[in-house]
Amino acid sequence: MIRLPSILLATFSLLAWAQTPKPAAPSPRLKVMVDPGHGGDDGGAKGPKGLKEKTAALEIGQAVAARLEAAGFQALLTRDDDTFIPLWDRARVANAQGADLFISLHLNAARAKAARGSEVFFLSLGKGDDEDVVAVENAGAGAAPASAESVVASILDDLAQKAFLQDSERLAVAVQGQLNRLAGIKERGVKQAPFIVLRGAAMPAVLVEVAFISNPKEEEKLKDAAFRAKVAEAITQGVRRYFAETNGSVRRRMVGAPG
Ligand SMILES: [Zn+2]
Repeated sequence: MIRLPSILLATFSLLAWAQTPKPAAPSPRLKVMVDPGHGGDDGGAKGPKGLKEKTAALEIGQAVAARLEAAGFQALLTRDDDTFIPLWDRARVANAQGADLFISLHLNAARAKAARGSEVFFLSLGKGDDEDVVAVENAGAGAAPASAESVVASILDDLAQKAFLQDSERLAVAVQGQLNRLAGIKERGVKQAPFIVLRGAAMPAVLVEVAFISNPKEEEKLKDAAFRAKVAEAITQGVRRYFAETNGSVRRRMVGAPG
């Protein structure tokens, strides 16, 4: 056995100590802005038995926020009670809070009573895939900002989401996939539409039509906390998948690094 001089041993152990990785600073939690649609005087769509979209959207939003928190994300809500927030302001709040993702939650309505399941949208800069839904969801926008300062702000808003369209599509695909599994629907893909609420978001942003409030069976399900918890789980799994696939590139871009 070769015996190393003690000075060498001391040097080796000093080197080993120097190379031991220091405990990393705790990384800040990824922040998700959850946006329950409508509120206050804007009730949104209504189910055949009278359930209001604004009520179901808030309850789902609260469930989603709680599930995201449990999964290690920081979840914020644009509204946590029956307050109306103008569509133009919702993305601005998300921007001001430095959110990493924006998820707007709504309930669908269709003339066909049998229409069911979830539809996930990301922003279209053109006409989009579903003009009826857009008309309903943009109705609560109120007048566009009028002052010169607001016009500049709204032009900037229009530019904000453009940079994130690809990531928004990825997020939409990840969330749609989980919601399809929940509803037992195989082939439903994501859609694009010019939703005002998504335009100003400077982060990947989607609008989820969670279920058809116009379908009596889905209206009934929406009243059930266990169903809302399943929706929250599906959306959270979609968010996790999205971050796993993008491998944190979103956050790096948010802080201005190349890439
Ligand atoms: Zn809505």
